[in-house]
Amino acid sequence: MIDAAPQSESTGYTEEIVRKDKNHFVHPWQLFDLFKEDGALPIERGEGCRVWDTDGNEYFDAVGGLWCNNIGLGNQEMAQVIGEQAAKMSFCSTFVDMTNAPAAELAAKLAELAPGDLNHVMYTCGGSTANDAAFRLMQFYNNARGKPDKKHIISRVHSYHGSTYVAMSIGGKPGDRSPLFDYIDDTIHHLTAPNYYREALDGESEAAFADRLVTEFEDKIVELGGADKVMAYFAEPVMGAGGVIVAPEGYNRRMWEVCQKYDILYVSDEVVTAFGRLGHWFASVDEFDVQPDIIVCAKGITSGYQPLGAAIFSSRIFDVIAEDGTGRCFTQGYTYSGHPVACAAALKNIEILEREKMFDNVKEVGPYLMEQLQTLTDLPIVGQVRGKQFMVCVEFVKDKETKALFDEDLDIGKRVANEADKRGLIVRPIVHLNIMSPPLTMTRDDVDFIVATLRDSIEAALTQLETEGHGPAN
Ligand code: PLP
Repeated sequence: MIDAAPQSESTGYTEEIVRKDKNHFVHPWQLFDLFKEDGALPIERGEGCRVWDTDGNEYFDAVGGLWCNNIGLGNQEMAQVIGEQAAKMSFCSTFVDMTNAPAAELAAKLAELAPGDLNHVMYTCGGSTANDAAFRLMQFYNNARGKPDKKHIISRVHSYHGSTYVAMSIGGKPGDRSPLFDYIDDTIHHLTAPNYYREALDGESEAAFADRLVTEFEDKIVELGGADKVMAYFAEPVMGAGGVIVAPEGYNRRMWEVCQKYDILYVSDEVVTAFGRLGHWFASVDEFDVQPDIIVCAKGITSGYQPLGAAIFSSRIFDVIAEDGTGRCFTQGYTYSGHPVACAAALKNIEILEREKMFDNVKEVGPYLMEQLQTLTDLPIVGQVRGKQFMVCVEFVKDKETKALFDEDLDIGKRVANEADKRGLIVRPIVHLNIMSPPLTMTRDDVDFIVATLRDSIEAALTQLETEGHGPAN
């Protein structure tokens, strides 16, 4: 641990940053009223799993930035490669017929790591744009193969796929769907989330629940006009921002089989799950036995050191869109597609993940994390602890018996997260959830710290609620 010199008292530095930020930076998901009062916490420095704010306070960042800090912060090898690439060639257009070595090397590496015939890469600036690019690719593909009516998209309630117009329309998180934004709602449809804890009927077994969801999918396809009308199914292997929802055994595979039956493209949104969070380069095949047509990734591809996303797609799609002699031009891409500095960072990141055997650590420490977090279920407001490997979540309830939630205004997730902040732990509050996605370097000792700190924080939040007359039902 390194001491950071507190700066605010002597220089007013923190206040100045907070003031400029409040006045000029419109943050993603900004809660305008609250933000005008509180502003944001300025973070200044990071090393491994830890960050320090501008006042020198230290935190264990159990969120891993935003599901993205896979190898850990402040890696000097990464800094060096990024600096060297920026000095050598900081930018090069990749439009039409120019390229750069890091972009070419990374595309070949991704094709090698991705399952099956996913041999072709479109680069983007992040996960939202990668889903957007996948969407446009599939339109091009279906139009090129003479199926212009095959345009419907099916995804799931509580899924998150990003915040471009298309990505937000494909996503299905009710809390994200501000009525003041517009959405594509004529060709995009949402199925029940595979959340057994919340969505199962009384007395329904997990297997029967999965059967019902697969039937719901097939019924929806038939209702929309079947193979002639439905273009794609978008799914995160484990739903992330929607509440770390791990589907029942066999569900992902069976949904894929339905896609095969109706010639529907399977888009696996691995923005969170790829590059080790579940202990594999990609989770689709290795964890769920699903061979997607397109894998969308971002975040862990550079461990957040540079903004980069990718849609990796099959030779089957490529061979249709790039058919010889058609004279077609693929008018899709961005100024920063294949950015040399971002691609150089990704190549080094992949090298480090492999060399440091970080997936082995995930497979070793992941089950311990889950086992230890489960001990929190003795607390009266912990309804469920769920997740897989380094993707976990605690769900708070007012009543364990009925699973009734606290009133949203009580902001239980945020209350616990605030208490955790005070104790040097960052967790991600989403309404009644606390989500964690730590760096892949997290140790067993770190797990012990997280679990002990969360217990104290939950107890403190509970005391507050009881004092205010909002205690749990039992
Ligand atoms: N897809 C998933 C599954 C995500 O979790 C996210 C972001 O959290 C995105 C897409 C969007 O990625 P980005 O914020 O890089 O655009």
